[in-house]
This record gives sequence, C-alpha cells and structure tokens, in this order.
Amino acid sequence: MSNFVWCHGPGCHKSHTQDRIRGVKGSKVLRTKKVQQTTYNSGQHLSMYSYFCSQGCYNDFANKYVREVIAIAPRTEALETPIEVTKVQDTYWNNETYMRTEIKTVDNNGG
Ligand SMILES: [Zn+2]
Repeated sequence: MSNFVWCHGPGCHKSHTQDRIRGVKGSKVLRTKKVQQTTYNSGQHLSMYSYFCSQGCYNDFANKYVREVIAIAPRTEALETPIEVTKVQDTYWNNETYMRTEIKTVDNNGG
C-alpha cells in the first residue's frame, strides 16, 4: 500500500516538469506531486518534507499563508537569551595569535 500525502504547495500543479504530467494525449494535465511518507519524513521525523515536495513549494505555501502561520504563535515582544561574553586568545594555523569573542549561553534556571 502506498502511503503518501499530496504536496501542499499552492502552485505545485503549475510547475512545468515531466514528473507532473498525467493523462492521455489530448487531455493531459500537470498534477500536484505526491509526497511519499517514509521513515525519514514521518513519525518522529515529521517535518516540512512530510507535506511538501520541495523547498520551493514550502516557500510558496509560507508566503501565501504567512498571516495564518504567524497567527499560530505571534511574537509581540523580543525574546532574550542570557549570555556571558568573554575575549579569548586563540591561535591561527601559522601560530599567530588573535583575540576572539566567545559567547556562552547562561542557564539562569537552576543550572
Ligand atoms: Zn510541490
């Protein structure tokens, strides 16, 4: 049994590729692609590749429905991650030294 979902890209069926062509001469169509559900894109590996045949179709969907997508988890204020910034001396491949900035995340929640 084939386990798949149709690609959710709003324009998937408009891309001019041979693998989308269906039908017989005189009544051919471009059809939305199937997205096979495998161990790599389903179950615990659920991702955008479970519902979209390509990054392009995902982008088309995200751009078309951006308002609805943002409404799921709107950001009304900036988030902040506590950090510690230190200057650390490091060495290039040729033994020349230089100073680099090291940023470490600080765990303020009992860590
Ligand atoms: Zn697609």
